[in-house]
Amino acid sequence: MAGEAIYTMDNNQQPSVGMRPYSSALDRLRDVGLRPTRQRLALAKILFSGDGNRHVTAEELHSEARQNGVSVSLATIYNTLHQFTQAGLLNEVVVEAGRSYFDTNTEEHHHFFFERTNRLQDISAEVISVSKMPPPPEGSKVKSVDVIIRLDA
Ligand SMILES: [Zn+2]
Repeated sequence: MAGEAIYTMDNNQQPSVGMRPYSSALDRLRDVGLRPTRQRLALAKILFSGDGNRHVTAEELHSEARQNGVSVSLATIYNTLHQFTQAGLLNEVVVEAGRSYFDTNTEEHHHFFFERTNRLQDISAEVISVSKMPPPPEGSKVKSVDVIIRLDA
């Protein structure tokens, strides 16, 4: 197993006073019932340790992991991102076929997509209202409405 030094890196447990935003990568994984393997911990740390929310592709996370000395295959990155998404730690935003962003902001919200720079920017849910919607097909109900405003910028 490569990347032996990673686990200790994640042991920076701040004295938590029950404040969710400061919970460590380890707590996040435990909270959703994911076994904190070394690779999951290392990737959770990269994804959730910074300030604010992030939108990353698997490829971006892969290169960030390598910069941080985490040796992990792109396939493992994909698997881990999908596990995190299923567990509710991330939201997957499919911008186009083959281009998914994984969003650390799991609250309901929308996005601007800058097509030239391949960047997503959050739009808060309250500032968009969909005034005309067809009724959902019989036997189904609307789960969510995700708006992506594509920018020529
Ligand atoms: Zn977002």
